[in-house]
Amino acid sequence: MPVVSLVLPCFNEQEVLPETTRRLIALLARLEAEGRAAPGSAIYYVDDGSSDGTWRLVAEYAAVFPTVCGIKLSRNRGHQNALLCGLMTAPGDVLVSLDADLQDDLEAIPRMLDGYRAGNEIVYAVRRCRDADSFFKRVTAEGYYRLLAFLGVQVLFNHADFRLMSRRAIESLRGYEETHLFLRGLVPQLGYRTSVVEFERAARFAGESKYPLRKMLSLAWQGVTSFTAYPLRLITGAGALVSLGSLLLSAWALGIRLFTDDAVPGWASVVIPMYLLGGVQLLSLGIIGEYLAKVYESTKKRPRFHVETVCGNGFGKDSS
Ligand code: UDP
Ligand code: MG
Repeated sequence: MPVVSLVLPCFNEQEVLPETTRRLIALLARLEAEGRAAPGSAIYYVDDGSSDGTWRLVAEYAAVFPTVCGIKLSRNRGHQNALLCGLMTAPGDVLVSLDADLQDDLEAIPRMLDGYRAGNEIVYAVRRCRDADSFFKRVTAEGYYRLLAFLGVQVLFNHADFRLMSRRAIESLRGYEETHLFLRGLVPQLGYRTSVVEFERAARFAGESKYPLRKMLSLAWQGVTSFTAYPLRLITGAGALVSLGSLLLSAWALGIRLFTDDAVPGWASVVIPMYLLGGVQLLSLGIIGEYLAKVYESTKKRPRFHVETVCGNGFGKDSS
């Protein structure tokens, strides 16, 4: 029987934490009673620099309930870094990552543990449908997954960060030191035996989404640029095409100039390619710049998070 750690990044989640904690404690008790989880299984909240009462609640629960533990980051580092911190810090044979807002169906967890017992090192929870999402989110998510597939980035359709990982998979993940994290793209690179369970994603239990459009776009961009240089290759392709086009155009213009009398100095043929090329060049420079910035930041090898303090029994002693 594995010791199970549930890892939940939290950013300003004081509205949902009481209910989340109540349900997770009940779930762990049930898993232990059913012989699916060993004693010592616990909940690990990673407070991602919240400015509300999130950490106060976590510390309170950790003092009362032996199965609640907390890790507090020194400031907000974003969901992916907070999640990585939880995965790298929490003990246990099996780690299950999920959101704090109860959108991820807890009933999928026993099935994920069954997957682990059947010999899988990673079990992905995949959404059966996207009915709980807004039209905008549905369309953009669908388009994005298609784009990733087209670019050759290996991700599972409709899988976010609700997944089970064995200790072995976690230790393998430790070897990936990249600054820009896109865990759902990174984990499939580990290999090992994997399986999938389906679940229905609910609406957020309380509070507002902590993923504004800005953070969503940033994550989407990491997903592309961390796993493929295809956009750079696209620029080369576009450059080759444009060059070929202008060669043909020059030959045509030269032909008119030399062999006919209608060589009217064309305004359009000068202005249009000028703007077009200007745009393509700027865009290309931008994309190259983005990759260059990534290299620049990676060479600095800055730590991805700092743990300010921890609390709860899970860290060997009560260190709150
Ligand atoms: N989150 C975090 N740091 C952030 C933003 C979000 O730790 O900077 C956490 C958040 O508390 C939640 C999870 O990441 O547990 C997913 O966020 P949310 O539910 O707001 O995203 P959505 O479901 O709207 O995409
Ligand atoms: Mg959510």
